Amino acid sequence: MTPAYDPKTLLMLACLLTGVIGIMLLLLGRASTPRIPGVRYWATGSLLMALSGMLIVLRGVGPQWLTYTVENTAAMLAYTLYWIGSARYFGRQPQLKGWVVLFLVAWIGQAYFTHVEESVRGRYLSLTGYVFAASLMHTIVFAQELRCGRGAWRQRGLGLPFTGFWVAFSTLVFGARWLHAIFQPQDGQGLLDVSWLQALYLGTFAFGLVIVNIGFLLLMSECIRSRFEDLAMTDTLTGVRSRRAVVGAASDLLQRSRRSGKPYSVLSLDLDHFKAINDQFGHQCGDRVLEAFCRHMEDAMRQADVLGRVGGEEFIVLLPATTVAQAGELAERLLLAARTSEPGLPDITVSIGFTEWRPDDPSIEALLSRADRALYAAKAAGRNRAMPG
Ligand code: GH3
Ligand code: MG
Ligand code: MG
Repeated sequence: MTPAYDPKTLLMLACLLTGVIGIMLLLLGRASTPRIPGVRYWATGSLLMALSGMLIVLRGVGPQWLTYTVENTAAMLAYTLYWIGSARYFGRQPQLKGWVVLFLVAWIGQAYFTHVEESVRGRYLSLTGYVFAASLMHTIVFAQELRCGRGAWRQRGLGLPFTGFWVAFSTLVFGARWLHAIFQPQDGQGLLDVSWLQALYLGTFAFGLVIVNIGFLLLMSECIRSRFEDLAMTDTLTGVRSRRAVVGAASDLLQRSRRSGKPYSVLSLDLDHFKAINDQFGHQCGDRVLEAFCRHMEDAMRQADVLGRVGGEEFIVLLPATTVAQAGELAERLLLAARTSEPGLPDITVSIGFTEWRPDDPSIEALLSRADRALYAAKAAGRNRAMPG
């Protein structure tokens, strides 16, 4: 019993869908600034795959050079572009010098076995062999990324394992098909012949192609999402954490201290007479002072401490596993660091309030406002000093 399906319709549908996703990738890619690396390669690959699918369907109707040679070239280029696109997306630079030779050999092979000595087997050996090799390189990109990321993809989302799995699966199918062409040399079993085996190849090829393209869309949307998250979490002027990010981190650290019983302290900082600096030297100079101040603070802080900008010239520093006495010592170091001279910029001082979390603090706001009250006390006592709260 032979299976009942129409290979041309199946192929056409898969390639049309791929083409539509290619257009979506192209449009979304153009709309995102800065450009998401790799997306244009994926999109071009998908448009070429759509072209290739349409040309296969025209076999027997259109000329051979178009429905075989141009079609095969489009497919070979598409799988190469998919690989390059993914490598670029993950910030890798694929080595293409030797690859050009492989491409040319495979291309000459498929042309030879179509126009000079017609052989389905010969064509499969060169074409599927090449597509298999390009897909294998593509799989390696995902495997390296999964290994190097060490679980970081869990935060980024499913795009990496999802797309990687389907790329690897498609590679296995291409590999199987290639081996099949080598060891089962009977000619005449093409993708458009109806048989159980061809149904398996065609089905996994068509399904895999569409799913991998959905994976590209997923990866792209994850990149856009993480850019927005970075924007919301980073202060654009100084590069330190935004108010939203640092208050969120303060609350997380409080929960952690509640569970572990470890100490936890916070500092509240406000630059002294900053308005006068703006008035005297200009707002732009004030901005540069803020940037330099953050750099000096970060240099003086410990690895685990967290700095965030909560207002114009107001900052907080979170100190996990730190007692109020240790917080006082760090505050003294920060007072010194703030006074570091910066060429071309006026000297500044800062006032600091610091306090430690207490089990009867009902919320993070209680802790932060106690640090703020200590800060006002430091201001009232003459500025350029740190006071406990
Ligand atoms: P005090 O010692 O009492 O804190 O005096 P101050 O002048 O620092 O206090 P105040 O809060 O009155 O002034 C803060 C100034 O910070 C006012 C505002 O113009 C300036 N400022 C706020 N955000 C920015 C910014 O992003 N860039 C610059 N250049 N200035 C800013
Ligand atoms: Mg101030
Ligand atoms: Mg202020």
